[in-house]
Amino acid sequence: MRYGEHSIDEAVRIIAEARHLIAFTGAGISTDSGIPDFRSPECGLWNNTDPMKVASLYGFRQNPQDFYDWVHPLVKLTIAAQPNNAHMVLAQLERYGYLKGIITQNIDMLHTRAGSQVVYELHGHFREATCTCCFKRYPAEPIIHRFMDDGLVPTCPACDGVLKPNVILFGEQLPAQTFMDARDAMAKADAVLVVGSSLEVAPAGDLPMQAARRGARLIIINLQPTEADHLATMIIRGDASTVLSGMIQQLQLPL
Ligand code: NAD
Repeated sequence: MRYGEHSIDEAVRIIAEARHLIAFTGAGISTDSGIPDFRSPECGLWNNTDPMKVASLYGFRQNPQDFYDWVHPLVKLTIAAQPNNAHMVLAQLERYGYLKGIITQNIDMLHTRAGSQVVYELHGHFREATCTCCFKRYPAEPIIHRFMDDGLVPTCPACDGVLKPNVILFGEQLPAQTFMDARDAMAKADAVLVVGSSLEVAPAGDLPMQAARRGARLIIINLQPTEADHLATMIIRGDASTVLSGMIQQLQLPL
């Protein structure tokens, strides 16, 4: 239960023995790529606002400009971010047959950019935007570029309704098919690698706990305590990139 050679050895053994290993990731896996999480102290970015309010569906409907003002720096950092070693290691574990898929709460698309193929994006992504009036969908890239320049609420070219990026806001239902697929993948898991999540956001955060209660082995790599520590087979309190890089070295796989 400590971060040291023994823990990494033990985690690598669980990974190597697993028949159906699933990774579950949160904002902490992307902090090394320059995107702050919501809950770590001193990240600064969210200090003056409560994401639970401004990034809620209710808040968005009340005042989309407040949401867009809040999300502007996050979008800027996401555009500039590159996958870090932790994303790359998970992509390699999948490529070499150790990992069956990644369930992520992240909206930054860094897993797919790192080359991971089976990725369940439970909280959506910035690839598309949808009109809140006529529900027409648009590729997000040109919309984002315009928004980065003018900072204004993007509107639908067809009906002038407010466009919402296809990210899931607090209080909004998760994409049903993606959630069911993720739940099915997790139901098969005999080992789960949680990386960089407080597991405080339900229902996504419940998935690793349900797997552990069913008997799956749970490895948690996180800087701070999580909601599932009491269910974990192993807790590694360390930086995700450093720990996962150490694991892939032990597995003698290239990065
Ligand atoms: P969270 O902010 O609740 O928890 C992140 C956890 O990661 C913290 O417990 C922290 O100790 C840990 N952590 C931070 N840096 C780490 C590192 N380098 N190595 C290991 N652990 C590290 O994040 P969450 O559980 O994902 O839930 C927050 C919600 O916010 C999610 O819905 C997520 O979609 C969203 N969010 C996403 C991004 C992103 O896409 N990158 C960024 C911020 C928030």
